[in-house]
Amino acid sequence: MKTLYLVIPCYNETEVLPETSLMFREKIHTLIHEQKISENSRVLFVDDGSRDETWKIISSLARQDEIFEGIRLSRNRGHQNALLAGLLEAAKYADITISMDCDGQDDIAAVDKMLEEYEKGSEVVYGVRSDRKKDTFFKRGTAQLFYRIMKLLGADIVYNHADYRLISVRVLKELEKFEEVNLFLRGMVPLVGFPSSTVYYERKVRVAGKTHYPLKRMLSLAFNGITSLSVRPLQLIACMGIGIALVSFVGVLWSILMYFMGKTVSGWASMTCIVCFISGVQLISLGIIGEYIGKIYLETKHRPRFIISEYTEGMKEEKEQKDE
Ligand code: UDP
Ligand code: MG
Repeated sequence: MKTLYLVIPCYNETEVLPETSLMFREKIHTLIHEQKISENSRVLFVDDGSRDETWKIISSLARQDEIFEGIRLSRNRGHQNALLAGLLEAAKYADITISMDCDGQDDIAAVDKMLEEYEKGSEVVYGVRSDRKKDTFFKRGTAQLFYRIMKLLGADIVYNHADYRLISVRVLKELEKFEEVNLFLRGMVPLVGFPSSTVYYERKVRVAGKTHYPLKRMLSLAFNGITSLSVRPLQLIACMGIGIALVSFVGVLWSILMYFMGKTVSGWASMTCIVCFISGVQLISLGIIGEYIGKIYLETKHRPRFIISEYTEGMKEEKEQKDE
């Protein structure tokens, strides 16, 4: 029987953990009871450097029931890094991992459907939101815009899929070889390949607490996603350059013509407009190119993507046994 690890990143989630942890536990117990997964299956929390009582809650859960395990990052590194830390840790013990949010937004019932797809041969199963009615109008609109832009820019991501997914350990071992530090997992997983499928679920509202993705962070995630997956923006700059060069060529011919016709006195307004337009285009282009250079800079440093500072009791023992 296969061992399943639910991997759950948490950042300042004291309000939701006591409630949602019960739900995770019940799911794992039921699946073990139904003999769908092995008794070694676990819920692995990743505390992403929380500043509240999150780690205390995780540690006490781990003491109460061996089904709970936890790792703590040395500081807040963001959802994507926390998730990867959890997945790679789980890959040491599990056969299958399912990643989900800890706030109860991802419908736990979809876990059964994901396992069924896995049994049918899928190594990756994407959880896709069947509707976004529960999201605010603003979140829904911006999210849809994001997927459209991604598609336009040639990035291969699954529409309306966030980070609720099943990944087999076979795929994780390959994902581990992607050494980039600018993480955008929902774009990286499709790149690994292997048979995949989707299951649909209804996205719920947060059990309690607030989202950690305000507009600023959403924009930065979206921008990171685009620049991580595609160089199309750079190609667009080149196309724009060619377009503008063609127009300028006509402009040059026109001004030479005007010169010989003796009509070259005035022209301050048109000149100012051209200078303003071209300098705007240049600055935007430089900004986009700069963004890519910034990424190269970060990648060349090869800094660790996360540092695990603590393990819950049960995990320490497992680690020691492995090390021996
Ligand atoms: N999260 C994290 N590190 C962060 C921000 C968020 O580990 O820096 C976790 C968070 O605890 C939650 C998941 O990532 O389990 C998704 O975050 P959130 O629910 O705030 O985002 P939303 O669902 O609103 O997009
Ligand atoms: Mg959430």
